[in-house]
Amino acid sequence: MRIVLLGAPGAGKGTQCKRIVTKYGLLHLSSGDILRQERTAGSELGKKAQSYMDSGALVPDQIIVEMMSSAICKAPKSSFVLDGFPRTVNQAAELDKSLMSDGQKIDFVLNLKIEDKLVAQRMTGRRSCPQCGSVYHIENLKPKVEGICDNDGIKLVHRPDDSLDVVENRLKTYHKQTEPVVDYYKNNNVVYDLDANKDADDVSSLIFEKLDALVKA
Ligand SMILES: [Zn+2]
Repeated sequence: MRIVLLGAPGAGKGTQCKRIVTKYGLLHLSSGDILRQERTAGSELGKKAQSYMDSGALVPDQIIVEMMSSAICKAPKSSFVLDGFPRTVNQAAELDKSLMSDGQKIDFVLNLKIEDKLVAQRMTGRRSCPQCGSVYHIENLKPKVEGICDNDGIKLVHRPDDSLDVVENRLKTYHKQTEPVVDYYKNNNVVYDLDANKDADDVSSLIFEKLDALVKA
C-alpha cells in the first residue's frame, strides 16, 4: 500500500500518519524527519540541503525528491505513507517518474480538508514544553496546571512557529503550491477528500473505512 497524505499545516497529518502506520504496518516517511536525519548523518544530500537552509532558501525539489526516493527504496514490501511530500506539482511528477521506473505507483491520496480559520485557531493556541516537547492547547488540550508541563513542571512556551503571522504565511504557501498537487493526483482518480474540521478520532474512522475497503479489494 503506497499512500500520500496531503493537507494544510495543522490539519492533523502527523497524528493520522501515526495511526495509519500502526494499524496497517506501513513505513512512515516524513520529509521533515528524513531531511533532519540526512543533515545529522552529514550525507552528501544532507550537506547540499543544509547549504540552502543556511541561506534561508527552500531546499530545491530535486534534492527533496532524491532523498525521498532513496528512503522509499528501503521501505519493506514498498508499503509506506508519505507525510509532507510531495509539496509541489513538480515534486509529485518527479516522484511518479521515480516510482514508475520500479513499476510502482501511488495507490491512494488522502486529502485532509480543513478551513483556514480552524487551522489558525488550532495552531496559535498551541503551547509547547521546551524540555520534553509535549504539545498542549489553551482550549482543547489544557495541562493540569495552566502554563505548566504535566510531565516535568517546566513553563510552557508559545513557539514563534505558532504565531498568527507565520501560520497565515504557511497557509498561503500551502494554497499556492500544495493544493495544486491534489488536482494533479485527481487526474489519476486516486484522491479521497476527508473532512478534517472534525475531531481526530472521527477523521481516523473515515480513513480506516477507506483503507479497509482497499485492503479487501
Ligand atoms: Zn515537558
